[in-house]
Amino acid sequence: MNKILVLVVEDDVSVRNLITTTLQTHNYRYLTAPNGSTAIMEASSHNPDIILLDLGLPDMDGVEVIRKVRTWSNVPIIVISARSEDTDKIDALDAGADDYLTKPFSVEELLARIRVTQRRLALMQTENNSDNAVFTNGELRIDYAAGCAYLKDEELHLTPIEYKLLCLLAQNIGKVLTHTFITQKIWGSSWENDIASLRVFMATLRKKLESTPDSPQYIQTHIGVGYRMMRVE
Ligand code: CA
Repeated sequence: MNKILVLVVEDDVSVRNLITTTLQTHNYRYLTAPNGSTAIMEASSHNPDIILLDLGLPDMDGVEVIRKVRTWSNVPIIVISARSEDTDKIDALDAGADDYLTKPFSVEELLARIRVTQRRLALMQTENNSDNAVFTNGELRIDYAAGCAYLKDEELHLTPIEYKLLCLLAQNIGKVLTHTFITQKIWGSSWENDIASLRVFMATLRKKLESTPDSPQYIQTHIGVGYRMMRVE
């Protein structure tokens, strides 16, 4: 058995059955969890390759599940939720979700998101392996193997998205990266037009990274275009 294992977290039986039937038809293995605490238990004991997560669960908010799982795992998490507000999306992504699918969704769309997430994960792993283990720029240091960033030897407490953004900018130091390029790299093609969310994450990253966020030293904004990490002496 060498099939991808998907953990499906959903309390609505009909949605859960739709998802599991789809997965089975397309040769995925799956586990199910009807609530947050079972989801956390299943994730830790079975180490799934991908998690599909509903946010409205009977015992806890799905965002809480993401936070818990992220304390020990980088497993891709795709949120499937009836909530379509930008703030819900941002909360979920900021907690460490990789993608967000709004209900009602089509089976084709779900399968496409799973494939994109798998591909992106494989790509990121290759890129990280081929890179030097440590990146330095001025007082900023990123230890890729440890997954940590430091400023003046103090660890920066970044969310998973902020860390991904920082690594992407660092790997392309000196180059202006367009909004579309960044959102595609971080979230996949389904998010390519979500520049508002990108701005929010960039603002929180800068608050942690820049001593004077109003005149940033590391990350330069190119209005209407994108962002660039500058070389710092
Ligand atoms: Ca629900």
